[in-house]
Amino acid sequence: VRDVLVVGAGLAATQTVAALRERGFGGRVSVLGAEGIAPYDRPPLSKHLLDRRTPTWLADEVGADLLALADEVALDEPARGLAVDGEAARVATDTGERTADAVVIATGARAVRPAGWDGALTLHTAADAALLRERLVPGARLVIVGAGWIGAEVAGVAAAAGVDVTVLEALDGPLAGALGAVGALTRGWYDAAGVRLLTGTRAGEVRADGVTLADGTRLAADAVLVAVGARPATAWLGDALPREPDGSLRVDEGYGVIGAPRAVRAAGDVALRRSRRHGWVPGGHWDGALRGPSQLVADLLGLPDDDASADVAPYVFSTQLGHELALFGLPGAGSDVALRGDPRGDEGWGALWFRPGSDELEAVLTVDRPRDVGSARRLFAGATLPRLDRAAAADLARGLRDA
Ligand code: FAD
Repeated sequence: VRDVLVVGAGLAATQTVAALRERGFGGRVSVLGAEGIAPYDRPPLSKHLLDRRTPTWLADEVGADLLALADEVALDEPARGLAVDGEAARVATDTGERTADAVVIATGARAVRPAGWDGALTLHTAADAALLRERLVPGARLVIVGAGWIGAEVAGVAAAAGVDVTVLEALDGPLAGALGAVGALTRGWYDAAGVRLLTGTRAGEVRADGVTLADGTRLAADAVLVAVGARPATAWLGDALPREPDGSLRVDEGYGVIGAPRAVRAAGDVALRRSRRHGWVPGGHWDGALRGPSQLVADLLGLPDDDASADVAPYVFSTQLGHELALFGLPGAGSDVALRGDPRGDEGWGALWFRPGSDELEAVLTVDRPRDVGSARRLFAGATLPRLDRAAAADLARGLRDA
């Protein structure tokens, strides 16, 4: 490989370029971006929406300066199409075509906005955050559609700043999409923060100045935020590569796009990767974009992957409504769920997802238990799912790894 073209100038792109240079790649590296600004970190956009007005630069967060490491970074030259023939990949942009021996697709995700909901805001980019922030003055009425990770985070920071917040959730409880029934255990956090939470409630008409519920009730608002999830930003690929129905790209353990020549790789939110322990792991979370690229680069350059983080556990973190959450692994829809500690107590708590009828642990959630976070991560360091004694794991007096 002599030249690598990285498409997308976010976390996975930055990490790819950093890994190429760390592994001694001396060829040409170019990067295409779409936002016109240097890479920044997204998690603070919701958690620090109102107390950090400029994006935190990724260079500080991950210690890699994309602009210094790549030969060329075009921050405002989005890719419009891809063609791969033989050994060369060709990427079309508005100014022409670029060719490279290898292309890394790291275009991240975009916020979902159902048809007809055009007036509402979404929160995915620094520009989105700036628009939303302007509206969130004390006393303003904010309606958030969706009590997922981002809806919950924004609800908490907005309410703390004196905004009148209502959250609508179509499912039975907050975080139901990610945590199933366990999500409902966070319901009390909304009351405590002074946020109105309406679950099992579908938004009908969604406009800039309010939401009409399916039963006709109208909620007037100064700002409406639609936070109903994100999808891989791969529409620009058209039919050039096999894409999953949600737009993601299935990749092998070297992050090669399955069904495409080996010169085509994908990492970060766009990639649906294979884990020996967890099966197919979707993108969408920071840690995957942070760690995937080192394996991608090792495989692309034909070097041994000496990264101990190989097959890292899926990991999501969130700070919401005054609570710290960390989720490792993938909760299954049909798993047996056990609680660790008491969600109403003040020592923090957790939840464990076991394979039905077995002691094999699929996922762990820790809430306000910093000491459990490291243990939970280490539980998923082996080649197979860990086995835990359910009764012992329920007891906060015992270390998670001793169970
Ligand atoms: P991105 O960082 O999104 O980078 C992709 C880049 O590609 C973007 O800059 C985009 O503009 C660019 N691009 C798109 N299309 C093109 C194109 N055609 N050509 C060129 N460039 C293109 N994860 C967690 O685990 N925990 C959290 O607490 C958390 N909080 C979050 C809060 C918010 C508000 C958001 C939006 C996300 C959050 N995430 C969180 C998710 C996390 O930020 C992402 O998983 C991570 O940024 C993915 O990195 P990436 O490099 O794949 O994509």
